[in-house]
Amino acid sequence: MKNSTLLIHAVPVDAATGSISVPIHQTSTFVQDAPGVNKGFDYSRSNNPTRKVLEDLLAQLEGGAGGFAFSSGLAAVDAVVKLLSSGDEVVAVDDIYGGTFRLYAGVYEKFGVKITFVDTSKPEKVAEAITERTKFIWLETPTNPTLKISDIALLADIAHAHDALLVVDNTFASPIGQQPIALGADIVIHSATKYLAGHSDVIAGAVIAKDPEVAARIKYIQNATGAVLGPFDCWLTIRGIETLELRLQRQSENALAVAQWLEGREEVERVHFPGLSSHPNHAIAAKQQAYFGGVVSFVIRNGNTDDATDFVTSTKLFKLAESLGGVKSLLCHPATMTHKSTPRDVREAAGVVDGLIRLSCGIENGDDLIDDLDQAFVRQRKKVTNPANINWK
Ligand SMILES: *Cc1c(COP(=O)(O)O)cnc(C)c1O
Repeated sequence: MKNSTLLIHAVPVDAATGSISVPIHQTSTFVQDAPGVNKGFDYSRSNNPTRKVLEDLLAQLEGGAGGFAFSSGLAAVDAVVKLLSSGDEVVAVDDIYGGTFRLYAGVYEKFGVKITFVDTSKPEKVAEAITERTKFIWLETPTNPTLKISDIALLADIAHAHDALLVVDNTFASPIGQQPIALGADIVIHSATKYLAGHSDVIAGAVIAKDPEVAARIKYIQNATGAVLGPFDCWLTIRGIETLELRLQRQSENALAVAQWLEGREEVERVHFPGLSSHPNHAIAAKQQAYFGGVVSFVIRNGNTDDATDFVTSTKLFKLAESLGGVKSLLCHPATMTHKSTPRDVREAAGVVDGLIRLSCGIENGDDLIDDLDQAFVRQRKKVTNPANINWK
């Protein structure tokens, strides 16, 4: 079955009623015939029929032995970190999602979990950083916001040669854009808030494990620590996933058109998009991704925070907001928004300079999106050349 069909038909028709839409089992508990004799469900933290449909769908989409739905992407990340013990080490991509950095540094460091950051787009750096205590190599590819690409298959081999697991946060690609388990990864994580749910209306997370034993351990942690996704949010996520490929197709087309257009603008110093042949790892992206996704970032030529702020407050269709992957286009200024707590030298080394702007292209008409960016550049130029804006003192 092709993906676009799987997205629709992997979800079963409700056996009890024939309902074509998944029923929302908004219940905390399930009546039992006798103690321990039930219909497969006893308490909704442990298992819930609506959540089970989503979890089975996630496992199928990523090709894992088990899928698990969490109350946020970070709750999903947290469940995976809890596989570790004190003294264990993680080698991670250096421009890791800020919330994942905060979780490791601010919560788990004091429990004796050590994380080392390297540029995972250079596999030799990963091999150098591994010690006998390394349990995970932790990737995001593409990364946020400069869309750095790492070679999943190559890093899976390096991880396995050292008895470590390869964990891939696949949020920026989605299961339709990239299949980490097929490429050798052991655990896949999603912020389902982004592409999976796709409509900027739910906070949700997912973990998919390739191996049944790892899946059983994640299931144990999910029940033991309790950060489950509620039935209605599971339903919203299932409903979003039905259109994932259609959305991703349009978002990727829009992003490529926008990226190519930006590359031709004199106001733009640099464009980051894995679908551009100018991207340093375009060949690896093309090898491991079916779609390049909707996120593009660019640097305003000689741009400072004021120039970037002018730009992000001048667009009309691109709304100024954090997050990505939804049907509506969004933009943000990472230096003062998503990365404001990252020290300047660290973020600048990762390419998050003051003039950098991140776009998340939605499913609108691509020409309209380009027109919107065009008028923002024109407005910005007028501001700079308008005598009223020159400080004569
Ligand atoms: C948003 C995001 C997360 C966190 O997900 P939430 O749903 O916001 O908790 C984790 N990883 C990546 C790559 C993200 O973009």
